[in-house]
Amino acid sequence: MELDSTWAQDWVRRSAQAMTQQRNELIDLDRAIGDGDHGENLDRGFAAAVAQLDAVAETDDAPHTVADVLRITAAALMRHVGGAAGPLLGTGLLRAAREAEAQNDVIDSHGIARILDAAAQGISARGRAVVGDKTMVDVWVPAAQAAHRAADEGGCPGQVLAAAAQAARSGAKDTEAMVAKRGRASFLGEDSRDHRDPGAQSSALMLLCAAQAAAAMHAAQDHEAPCAALTHEALSSLPDLGDLS
Ligand code: ADP
Ligand code: MG
Repeated sequence: MELDSTWAQDWVRRSAQAMTQQRNELIDLDRAIGDGDHGENLDRGFAAAVAQLDAVAETDDAPHTVADVLRITAAALMRHVGGAAGPLLGTGLLRAAREAEAQNDVIDSHGIARILDAAAQGISARGRAVVGDKTMVDVWVPAAQAAHRAADEGGCPGQVLAAAAQAARSGAKDTEAMVAKRGRASFLGEDSRDHRDPGAQSSALMLLCAAQAAAAMHAAQDHEAPCAALTHEALSSLPDLGDLS
């Protein structure tokens, strides 16, 4: 079983819904250690990505591959997210698209782990941030590592993404104890401690949506029923989007 452009589109559409649903929570997180625009930024950016996917759906520019979908999304985020997160996520998704293309768009369990890795490396390089700096890198890097482990253990793509989503959630929580070294929150120094990083939280939401999209895709394919069940089980231990604790 491989992940295809239908999965990628569903990932983006679910992410857009999640950002709308969590808009105010993300704003509150950013208000505490930033300028309070993060929820608005991502809601606007993902809405623009969905609008673009809709606009090209019936045209010659319709996306046929995971790489196509990631490129359209990256461009929309870079253009429409007003803050630091736009170029960072845009770069991450462009690197991910390049990796998807290198796999000839046949994305299996190891393939999706490598795609998450490419995104993590892209964000880290663009932001010059490493794990421990209290940024979205604290979510993408452990998510990619967990994905590699799950793929090595023989997990199907949905299970790999569920493992990534679990690690992402822990990674977002771990930022609470950190002092920010990059981005706007770093201006606060010690005062940034005891707050969750907003970008880490929105990235954890994105990764949860990626796993949910894979679970839905597996569930729609009769021969993938065992994988759908395992993915579902892995995801059921995660609280729903709204629970930040
Ligand atoms: P801004 O800080 O410009 O208002 P956003 O509010 O949209 O941008 O995004 C803030 C988030 O971006 C932070 O919570 C953090 O996760 C991420 N971020 C900021 N700077 C960096 C960086 N240099 N490297 C990685 N991530 C960063
Ligand atoms: Mg902000």
